[in-house]
Amino acid sequence: MRHKEVKIKLINRFSLRTIIVVPILLIILIGSFMTYLLVERFADRYSEKLISSSQVRIKNHIYDHLDDYFKIPELVNIYNANLALNNQLNLENVDILGKVLLNQVTSNDSIDYSYYANKYGGIVSSGLYQNTKRISYTDDLKLGDFKVYEVDKNGDYKNFVKSIRNFDPRDKSWYIEARENQGAYWTEVYTGAQEDVLGMSTSYPLISKNGEKIGVFGTDILLDQLSEFVKKINTTENGIICIVDSQGMVVASSTDENPFIEIDNSQYRLPAIKSENDVIRLGYTGIKGVYYKESDEVIKSKYSVDGRNYHCEFYNYSYDNKVNWNIMIAIPEQDIISDIEVLFYRFTVGFIIITLMVLFVYIIMSKWILKPIIKLNAKVNEMANENWGVQVHTDRNDELGQLTKSFNKMSVKLMDYLKELDNKQDELEKINSSLEDIVKERTKELELLSVTDSLTSIYNKRFLVESLNYNIELSKRYNEIFSVTILDIDHFKAVNDNFGHVEGDRVLMEISKFLSSKIRDVDVLGRYGGEEFMIIMANTSLDEAYIASERFRKELSEIEFGTNKIKITISGGVAQYMINETLIDIVNRADNNLYKAKNTGRNRIVK
Ligand code: GH3
Ligand code: MG
Ligand code: MG
Repeated sequence: MRHKEVKIKLINRFSLRTIIVVPILLIILIGSFMTYLLVERFADRYSEKLISSSQVRIKNHIYDHLDDYFKIPELVNIYNANLALNNQLNLENVDILGKVLLNQVTSNDSIDYSYYANKYGGIVSSGLYQNTKRISYTDDLKLGDFKVYEVDKNGDYKNFVKSIRNFDPRDKSWYIEARENQGAYWTEVYTGAQEDVLGMSTSYPLISKNGEKIGVFGTDILLDQLSEFVKKINTTENGIICIVDSQGMVVASSTDENPFIEIDNSQYRLPAIKSENDVIRLGYTGIKGVYYKESDEVIKSKYSVDGRNYHCEFYNYSYDNKVNWNIMIAIPEQDIISDIEVLFYRFTVGFIIITLMVLFVYIIMSKWILKPIIKLNAKVNEMANENWGVQVHTDRNDELGQLTKSFNKMSVKLMDYLKELDNKQDELEKINSSLEDIVKERTKELELLSVTDSLTSIYNKRFLVESLNYNIELSKRYNEIFSVTILDIDHFKAVNDNFGHVEGDRVLMEISKFLSSKIRDVDVLGRYGGEEFMIIMANTSLDEAYIASERFRKELSEIEFGTNKIKITISGGVAQYMINETLIDIVNRADNNLYKAKNTGRNRIVK
């Protein structure tokens, strides 16, 4: 579990592009390196096996070809013999027989001459000489002059060429051997009638049903075709093939070397051990003169020529034990290794090209995928930095296009939502501030209400008490003096009784108003009881308070109050605060003086 997390964290460190591209590059690198290693080992270890297997392959190819090569002329002879035995071939008429044999030559590439000789020494022979066709025969198919004619393509006579005297086919080995062996015979390789060309002949006896040896059919083949064949075989670049007969004479080779040598203006066949080609010469010199053995044994040898290490194999080829040849196949190991290296090189180049193409497609694809993601990412980042309402352009309709469009939609919605939120907040702030104003006002009103008297709107008794305490504090601390007057309306009961309670209230209000207008700003006027008022006069001595109270009383007594123009008088008691007095002390003293004023006739102030 932890291990997995570490892995994921590691992957998270790389960009998407790296994750896509790096594995492909790694595959190219590792793939090329692995192929290189494999091929290096492979080339060294298997080059010998590869050489050997390609030698066997080439050998089999040559064997197959030679088998066919020898079989066809042999079959032509056998075919002719069978025709003759079934009386389907006229052996008396030279014209007809010559044409039939010529037809066989022209219709069969590998056959150069086809002929028939009888026990009387007569012969008919048809074939190709350079680029012309020839039919040669002895008259009446009897021993005599062997006359050679050039003929046209139908076998009709054109020119007389020459006459060979004393030609008796019965002396020739092909005649004798076929007759004696009573089966197909092959001659050794010989230098043909045509210059510079090797040839071979095969012959087959014509024996009647009762065992009479009537004659011999023969065919000639030219071996220059074999060299052409051998040259066309795919060996390696410097590989060499050479075929020698049982005498060690070159029959065919993949080199351009002529299978003849000239000594003293005479032409001889080329022995392999005299070849100008070092590979052939050294190879055959090495096998010590035994060119053909009747066995499947393969002789192997290794030698260096021109810095190449040739692996050479010698095969014994036998056609029915009538043709016994030896085939040399020499392949330098450098060819095989360089073949392998070329193969490796091609493979590696192919591999790299393919992977690069894949990488190219990959990058195009990743761009197609990554580009919009990177663009979108940048815009999301912008949005994260409070740039609301950003839009990403896209023409695409695939998943990424849809993602982009969804983003755009979301962005717009988010912006609208935020705008709405802003508006709501403004509204809320406004409501809040007006609410605060209302609360402030109400609080003020409430505060005022708590210290004022509801009827007269002057201070109530609670405030008067607070004010007294405050003044007592000031006096104690700063030796400030102050005085108190308590005023009581005279016979107020009678006002109620005579004019009603409402009129009484009105009078109370008007008296309050009157007293308020008379006192100084620093004085405090309050309703002390039902029809009693108190004035706290700051910085006022007893005498000054008395004088002021007396003036209020006098002026008040001259005014008419209420709707009924009622004349009112008041009585009052004055006291100045004395050091260390309590609130009760000073109030009692003022109250006592008021009591005295009442008892001494009312409408007066006592101090
Ligand atoms: P004196 O003070 O001169 O001795 O006589 P008085 O009639 O004023 O004294 P008393 O204390 O016996 O009566 C006070 C009267 O004041 C009793 C009451 O009806 C009246 N009164 C007190 N408060 C109010 C008020 O708020 N409104 C009205 N209309 N009358 C009030
Ligand atoms: Mg009273
Ligand atoms: Mg009174």
